[in-house]
Amino acid sequence: MIKYITKSPTETRKLAEVLIKKFLKYNTEKAIIIALEGELGAGKTTFVKGLAKALKIKAKVKSPTFTLIKSHKLQATSYKFLYHLDCYRIKDHRDLTILGIKEILNDPKNIVIIEWSDRVKKILPKNHIKIHIDHINKNTRKICVN
Ligand code: ADP
Ligand code: MG
Repeated sequence: MIKYITKSPTETRKLAEVLIKKFLKYNTEKAIIIALEGELGAGKTTFVKGLAKALKIKAKVKSPTFTLIKSHKLQATSYKFLYHLDCYRIKDHRDLTILGIKEILNDPKNIVIIEWSDRVKKILPKNHIKIHIDHINKNTRKICVN
């Protein structure tokens, strides 16, 4: 596990940019799956914004709280889609079945980032990257990467 401290939303976005660039280099021939944990306001969506910037996504990123999932077509990497999920409103992984979640997680062309991933632990492949964000104080966050 690696621990980081960020002292502003900008630092969290920058960290996300650095980390996704590192993950892209792993070349696992599997989907990149990032499980984001942390309370409301921890900075999960802020982290996704940095990731989206590194992937050259132009659309404005926000939590897909009501739609559960948002896909972004990727141009800048060998991956084809970024899927951004927000599981805040769901009970468990069965609520994602209708979205074809298994196919999404199994497609090596996808990058999948999941807010509130602790709710859907059961369906996460073993090789997923876990990122836990803790609120320390107003502008400080502890970010643990597993
Ligand atoms: P979540 O998606 O986890 O609910 P958001 O990213 O939507 O959280 O919100 C995080 C809030 O915390 C934002 O208002 C952001 O400006 C604020 N914030 C303050 N410091 C930080 C930091 N170091 N990293 C991320 N967000 C921070
Ligand atoms: Mg969010």
